[in-house]
Parts: sequence; C-alpha cells; structure tokens
Amino acid sequence: MSMTNVPEIFGSMVYNETVMKQTLSSSVYKALKQTMSEGTPLDLTTANQIAESMKNWAISKGATHFSHWFQPLTGITAEKHDSFLTPAPEGKIIMSFSGKELIKGEPDASSFPNGGKRSTFEARGYTVGDPTSYPFIKDHTLCIPTAFCSYTGEALDKKTPLLRSMEALNEQSLRILKLFGNDAKHVTTTMGPEQEYFLVDEKLYQQRKDLKMCGRTLFGSKPVKGQEMDDQYFAAIKPRVIEYMEDLNTELWKLGIYCKTEHNEAAPAQHEMAPIFTTSNLAADQNQLTMEIMKKVARRHGLICLLHEKPFAGVAGSGKHNNWSIATDKGENLFAPGKTPRDNAQFLLFLTAVMKAVDDNQDLLRYSVASAGNDNRLGVTEAPPAIMSMYVGDELEAILESIKDDKSYDGKQGGKLEIGADVLPSIPKDSTDRNRTSPFAFTGNRFEFRAVGSSLSISGPNTILNAILADSLSKFADELEKSNDFDNDLQKLIKREITEHYRILFNGNGYGQEWIEEAEKRGLKNYRTTPKAIEHYLDKKNVELFGKLGIYTEEEMHSHSVIKLEKYCQVLNIEVETMLEMVNRDIIPSAFKYMNLLADTEFKMQRVFNLCDAGLNMMKKLNDLINDLANNAEKLGKVHEEVKSIEDLMAKAHGYAKQVLPQMKAVREIADQIEPLLGQEYKPFPSYEDLLFSV
Ligand code: ADP
Ligand code: MG
Repeated sequence: MSMTNVPEIFGSMVYNETVMKQTLSSSVYKALKQTMSEGTPLDLTTANQIAESMKNWAISKGATHFSHWFQPLTGITAEKHDSFLTPAPEGKIIMSFSGKELIKGEPDASSFPNGGKRSTFEARGYTVGDPTSYPFIKDHTLCIPTAFCSYTGEALDKKTPLLRSMEALNEQSLRILKLFGNDAKHVTTTMGPEQEYFLVDEKLYQQRKDLKMCGRTLFGSKPVKGQEMDDQYFAAIKPRVIEYMEDLNTELWKLGIYCKTEHNEAAPAQHEMAPIFTTSNLAADQNQLTMEIMKKVARRHGLICLLHEKPFAGVAGSGKHNNWSIATDKGENLFAPGKTPRDNAQFLLFLTAVMKAVDDNQDLLRYSVASAGNDNRLGVTEAPPAIMSMYVGDELEAILESIKDDKSYDGKQGGKLEIGADVLPSIPKDSTDRNRTSPFAFTGNRFEFRAVGSSLSISGPNTILNAILADSLSKFADELEKSNDFDNDLQKLIKREITEHYRILFNGNGYGQEWIEEAEKRGLKNYRTTPKAIEHYLDKKNVELFGKLGIYTEEEMHSHSVIKLEKYCQVLNIEVETMLEMVNRDIIPSAFKYMNLLADTEFKMQRVFNLCDAGLNMMKKLNDLINDLANNAEKLGKVHEEVKSIEDLMAKAHGYAKQVLPQMKAVREIADQIEPLLGQEYKPFPSYEDLLFSV
C-alpha cells in the first residue's frame, strides 16, 4: 500500500467546520454555529442556503444521494436514501436538496422495533438533524446524523436519550461547579471507545454455519494452542492484518475518525482499535460507523471482521472499553484530580458522586450491557464479571479510606485530610491500569467501563452513565446549596457518602471465584443473565430517576425492556436452530463417514489378520458419543419447543437462560469430543485451529 497523506485525507468526507467556513457566507455560518452551540432552530432561508452548499460539496465528492442517518433501537444504524435528482422540463434533471430535507425527514418507522409502543396506524416517526454531529459521505451518499422521534415526542432511537442525558449531566454539574465558584458555562461528556474485534479468513467463515448465522462458533474443540502462551498480546502484527488496518485507518480518517492506536489483543486473531476521545454523541456516531466500516473493509481483504462478544469459547471475548469523562467549556477535565486544594475537593466530590451512582445503580449498569452475546463473555476468560464494582487504584483507595476512617494517610503525616484545605498526594496515572479485571476502573482522569460488549451501541451505556451521575450530583447539589458552611458540610457529605458506598470499591481480582462470594457478602448484585438484568429495569427507583431528569419516560423504558427481551429470545432461537442443523447436517454425517471408513478397514483387517483391531474401539467410542449427541440434540429440540411456546416474554427469556442454554452446553460438550476423533478429511467444518491461526 502506498503512503497516505493523512492531513490531506483526514476528514475529507466530512462537512466540517473547515468546509462550512469555505462554502457558507459569514452570516449563514454564524447562524449555523449558533444552532450548533446553543440549539437555536434554523430558519428556513438559512437552512436552504446550507442545504445548497452542502449539496454542491457532496456532489463534488461524488455523492448522488442523501440520507438521514439514525440509530433505531436495534442498536445498529439505519438510513433511507433519497436521490438529489429532481425531474426538470424536457426530460432533464436537476440535482436538488432543500433546507426542509436537511432538517427533517419522515422514514417509514413501522418496521423498526418499538417494543409495542405505537400501534401501526400511528407508526410514523420523523428524523431531525443533530447539528452537533457533522454530515459525512459514505457510499456516494450524503449522510446527515439525525435523531428519530415519534409524532407524540417519544424517542425511537438511541441518540435522543443520549443527548438528553448529556444535557441533564450538564445542568447538574453546573450546579455543583457554581458552589465551588467555578464559572464554567457548559459541561459536556467525552467518550473514547476502544473497539476489540476478531479477523477470520472469509473462505473458512463461509464453511461455518454458526459464524454465518450467529456471528459466533457454537462448536469447536480447543486448539492445541490457545492464548495461554500470551504471545499474541502486543505481538508484531501479521502482514495481512497490517494491510487491513492501513486500509481501515484510511477509510476512518476520511470520515474524520481519529483512530490512533492499534494492536493485537489477548486472543489469537483478536485486535483492537482505539480512537481519540471526543464528545459522547459524536463518539457514538463514529463508533457505529467504525463497526460498519470494519466489516466492510475486511471483505476487501478476504477477511471477516467478527464483532461478536464471544466468537470463540476458551479464548478472550471482545469488549468495548468505554472511556468516559466530563469536561467544561474551559477545557477542565472534571475527573482529573487537579493540583490545588480547591480542585482536589471538587474532584473528590465528583468521585464520590460516581461511587454513589455506581453503587446505587449496579442494576442499571448491568442492564446497559446486557445481551445474549455479552452474557457469554461477562464472567469468563479475560472479561469482567457481571458484578458491578469500581477500581480506583491503591493510592486513591488509601485516600478514600483515610477520609472514611478519619485516619492519617501516607501523604500527610499525623494529620487527617482536610478537604478544601489540603492538597492530595499525586496519583500516578498508570497505577490504575494494573487491574484489568474490574468492570469499572478509574484510569487517572477518566473512568473505563469495560463491561460494554464489542457489538453494542455505546449510546445506551453512556446514556445510563450520564444519567446516574446526574442523579447523584443533583442530590448533592440539593443538599449543599442549602449549606451555610460549605467547606464543613462538603467534608461531612463526602465522608458520609464514601462510607455509605465503600462496598462498591474492589481492587482485587475480579476474575476469581472468591470475589463472587465476597460480593455476595457485601450485598452487591450479580445478575448473570440478561433476563435477570432486565427484570429490574422498570423498578420504581429507575423509572423515577430517568423521569425526573427527563431522559426516558416510563413508556420508553417499557419498550426498551421489551425490545431487549425479544432480541435475546430471537438470538437464542437462531442459535438453537443453527446448532441442531449443524449436528444433523455436519457433525453426525461426518462422523458416520469416518465410521464407515473405520468399519471398512476393520472388516478387511479381520479378514487378513484375523485381528480385533483398534478400529473397533474407535468405532465403539464414536458410536457412544454419537448416540449421546443425537439424544441430547433431540432433548434440546424438545426443551426449545417448550420454551418457545411460553407466552409471557419475560418467562420465555428466563426459559432460554435456565433451560435452553444449559442444554446447548450439553450438546456442545459432546460434539466437541467427537470433532478431534475424526480424521482430517472428515472434519465437519474448519476447526478452531484453522480459524484462529490462519490469518
Ligand atoms: P492510555 O494508554 O493512556 O490508557 P489509550 O490509548 O489506551 O490511553 O486510550 C484509551 C482511550 O481513552 C482512548 O480512546 C482515549 O482517547 C480515551 N480517553 C483519554 N482521555 C479521555 C477523556 N478525558 N475522556 C474520554 N476518553 C478519554
Ligand atoms: Mg485502556
């Protein structure tokens, strides 16, 4: 691949600030900027002028269509393409695009999941441009990032609630900052999602029904070599993968996505891409685009990019480490400890608010990452458990402990820490990265929520993070705004809250069995399955929290839980069907073919040598296993039929978790014993070894 001129291509497909300045008159540019920063609506004349300039720019880049690009509740993106073409007299056409088309669209919403929210006759929603996320060109189409709402004002997408949550956090943070004499005017959340993925050879992928249908393997005996040698993590990247990454970077740079680091991950064939963080809603848009482009570019290289959370059993799964922070318009990071006593105090209050948010809302955080795919990952190889806890590093934990117990801490001999008057000892940034097993870790100036699955939209988890922090902050603000002795009351509040929520801190090994027992003693929640996590979503506490902050209505929440449950059941339904097909069409026939060879050989051997050979034992062993497999597959089919017919959606989902999944496991275990017994030419499908070590 030739060297790319990065500054030249970076953002070349984005209608960004530079393009706006170049193509808009200064008055129109000013109006647009105002809309972007303050949310003021655009008048139609201005919108028409912007649309005209945007269209000309897009056509100069080869675009022929435009589309309102949005994020329905499925978690993927949707677009409805319209062409710029408008018929003109004498059979000619003109390329047109109006301000109205720029601002508002009306895709047919009836086919998007709504969780029973709207009856079909009113199944119409509209899209409205999000002026804070830049339009871009993809596949000859000008895509305009939009929010998607129903005519009755409900959010039908993931962007609207995310924007609402950012606004709620802005409002509550400003209340707190004011108490510290901080005159910031605006606070925004930032996000940097590290995206993990697997690459497999397309030809091998085509031969595996499970990968094609489910995005993960349902069978596969362990390869001789897994990730136990730890020789893959940060190892030199193979040439074919490098070519892929270069191509991917180029495509993402064109779209203005700052991908910065790339390296191999823990498992063989696993990789990671980390972009530089940006405002949450833009980061969410960009992550959706990133996932789409990762898959598309892979095809060009004869590869398939797997974004599933657990494509292979026994090796690490893929997550999306969600780096999250808040910044003021003055560029101050509110999760950075700072250097002065005042900054330290402000930091400690925000940190305490996060502790409270996580502890009070373990259920919501777990809910935000719940999916059939991620359930396979949480709590197994190299993934944080389903228990939500917080890691802050030894130094910070010592400080919090000293505040809680009124003890002196290392940094200050003999004395207690006086919040607002004392300077905190410095907290080494990297100290926090030592524990990779925590689902929620403080990493020096941000939090890293690691339980997020690799295929999930980050909008949901971030909406919830913003919401629960806004909730804690609002309670703190209510209390402190009434205070007549701020420093004293602040110290008291911080001490009280640290004490109350201390149980959420855990610096030990999150992968260990001891932690599960310890967490239970502490009263922390451990919702292992998605239906368990969903069960608590509509608890009164949660409905009140989102309602008060204006982020979700109860009706919206109800529909989320229905959509999540439906999706969970659908995914497992497909997995069971695929599994049964593979047993009956691939595994058993392959085993029979091989047994036929064995029988044939055995027969001849007996005739020649009059010997009872090893073949007989092999055949017996295979015969028993196949019997066992057929019986268990039949049982799986029956259990599945029973569960499928359960009418109540929640009960059905629990049925999948409690009855179907264990039976799937039983089937797999037997099949995985058969696979290595079959001769190379009799393999039912490419093995783990083929898949994991071929690229
Ligand atoms: P480090 O090596 O310092 O941990 P990484 O390169 O692993 O950094 O980056 C992790 C991710 O965290 C990146 O996407 C980065 O942009 C992001 N990040 C850094 N600072 C912030 C912040 N203030 N808010 C949100 N994300 C951030
Ligand atoms: Mg990291």
